[in-house]
Amino acid sequence: MTQSQPKTRLTELRELINSYSYQYHVHDSPTVSDAVYDSLFSELKHLEAAHPEWVTPDSPTQRVGNELLGGFQKVQHSSRMLSLNDVFDRAEVEAWVVRMNKALPGRTHEFFADIKMDGLACALVYQDGVFTQAITRGDSFIGEDVTANVRTIKNVPLRLRTEAGYTQFLQGRTEIRGEIVMLKRDFESLNERQRAAGKPVFANPRNLAAGTIRQLNPQLVAERKLHFRAYDLLRDEPNEVPTNMFAYQAISALGLTRNPQASVFTTVNEVMQFVDEWDQKRHALDFNTDGLVIKVNDRAQFRALGIVGKQPRAAVAYKYAAEQATTIVRDIVISIGRTGAATPVAVFDPVVVAGTTVQHASLHNADEIARLDVRRGDTVVVFKAGDIIPQVESVVTELRPKTAEPIDYTTLLAEQYPELQFERQGEDVVYRVVGASSELILKRSVEYFASKAALDIDTLGEKNVAALVEAGLVKDLADIYTLQVEDILKLDRFAAISAKKLIDAIAEKKHPTLEKFILGLGIRHVGTQTAIDLANQFQSIEALAKATIDELEAVEGIGVVVAESIIAWFADPDNEALLQKFKALGVEPSFEQKKGALRGQAFVITGTLETLSRDEAADRIRALGGTFQTAVAKDTTYLVVGGKVGASKLKKAQAYGTEIIDEAKLRELLIS
Ligand code: NAD
Repeated sequence: MTQSQPKTRLTELRELINSYSYQYHVHDSPTVSDAVYDSLFSELKHLEAAHPEWVTPDSPTQRVGNELLGGFQKVQHSSRMLSLNDVFDRAEVEAWVVRMNKALPGRTHEFFADIKMDGLACALVYQDGVFTQAITRGDSFIGEDVTANVRTIKNVPLRLRTEAGYTQFLQGRTEIRGEIVMLKRDFESLNERQRAAGKPVFANPRNLAAGTIRQLNPQLVAERKLHFRAYDLLRDEPNEVPTNMFAYQAISALGLTRNPQASVFTTVNEVMQFVDEWDQKRHALDFNTDGLVIKVNDRAQFRALGIVGKQPRAAVAYKYAAEQATTIVRDIVISIGRTGAATPVAVFDPVVVAGTTVQHASLHNADEIARLDVRRGDTVVVFKAGDIIPQVESVVTELRPKTAEPIDYTTLLAEQYPELQFERQGEDVVYRVVGASSELILKRSVEYFASKAALDIDTLGEKNVAALVEAGLVKDLADIYTLQVEDILKLDRFAAISAKKLIDAIAEKKHPTLEKFILGLGIRHVGTQTAIDLANQFQSIEALAKATIDELEAVEGIGVVVAESIIAWFADPDNEALLQKFKALGVEPSFEQKKGALRGQAFVITGTLETLSRDEAADRIRALGGTFQTAVAKDTTYLVVGGKVGASKLKKAQAYGTEIIDEAKLRELLIS
């Protein structure tokens, strides 16, 4: 398999993230979306956690912000302006609380949560109530003096308000930290003016705000209507600010803007309710957000919890489900639909996109593969089209393994379907099976579905299937359950009795066993035994459809080829629609845990048995949870001998310690 070694991957991620970070923080002009950045950053964090010996001081996980631009005076912060550790779901919030409990045993935490603004962090210094300095976050220790620019922001008070209970903050040094943002409406009208003047539009409010503050013309800042929202208040004597909620009350009292939504909670449940509430409502806010900030409310406790790396232990940034994420393509598998169309599917490492785990995406056709130039081992950006269907957006070529070869589509087809031939006609972008009209493929799949090995639908054999398909009564597997006696009576082949017989036979198989149903679907490489193993493992078709490649490969006897074929089948939208249709028609496979008298025992039959056909014997062995094999292998428990046994079989059985039994003994086992 084409994949970078972890150490190479780590080095490449580090370099790439550093270069993204440089563009973002120094030039305020990001080259990728925040979701892609966060996804790669999180992969780096996980790799470093698994290999702490590989962490280097220049790793982006070890730094806040980036180098400073020239042009502004450098100022040392009174205390570091840290960044926050990201969490993405409830489990991570709970894990954070567990970490705090460990660090400070026996203390309960009161939580404080606020909306996280997506802007530029800035510290405002007030001396005896008068605005004296504004400093960017910079590299967290040293920032840039942007006082002249910030002075033009209308909602930054040049003198703090006097209000009873808060006058102490008008004496000495009061530092207010917050975020400079551009409101969505101001950003939109600025872009309208740009368009009207034939000038290029700006990409996003965050980078425009940052770029505006970090240029040297205060006049331009005033024109762009920036906005400041505070989230922290610092004093030389920290006990003057006992809680974060108190800091917020003081911020309002002193005449600064802050989010009114910030609240205090006592349990993780309440925090999660706040998280869920703002997942929807945040879109209606007049500034962009990139999640929530959750902190310990008590500031003495906050300080006692200390700093880990570049983040305070007592706070996290909750990031909402990203619309995009990165993952690695393991393979490209082709699925043949019921019309004979070949659809390539990228199978990748499971990744959460917009709140659900995805592990495959259709690549549509050869042209799309060529357009994306996607290869095995590539890191790709995945998103959800229309919020449902996962799609590959692009390839992060910087992270491509050296050995990754371009995909030659016709070679891929030949490798995966050596017995079939494909062609692409005229303008058609899709390769289709040559000669196999959709009708022929459909007939074969219906025959297979109805065959003895699968659903065993009496009288639905080759000729009846052909008649039904040719008459247009059956267009997919599920259609057989829609047939009515009146419909098929119109066909030459059927009379009243035969028509009724067929309809009854189909109706009788509305609740097939799960294993027969899985087999009947005709998934490539899924034979009788695999269907049984899958049914036993997943116990419902819905669970099988969601199985990850690792879960499939963990099933005894299933290797990567079978696992990928299953993934590709369920990834095909046609098949998804087919399963929905079965469900709507009331076709529901049933699963019953096998009694299991023969569980874990494997049988091979050689020669002819007198009282049982080979198929019957196999069915009965399986019904009791045993496995039926065609050749003696290491794990064969019994070799059942009918008549004379060949020398080579005997030798193998002896070598593997397989017990040799006769038909009578087999019958005994089947009764038990
Ligand atoms: P962070 O996620 O570490 O969060 C910490 C910051 O959140 C604080 O410093 C503060 O300024 C801010 N904040 C906003 N609202 C707040 C509130 N209510 N309370 C407290 N703090 C609040 O942020 P970061 O270190 O500034 O940067 C990381 C972010 O930058 C990531 O989201 C990342 O996606 C983005 N980034 C993107 C690229 C790119 O190429 N697209 C590159 C680098 C970084």
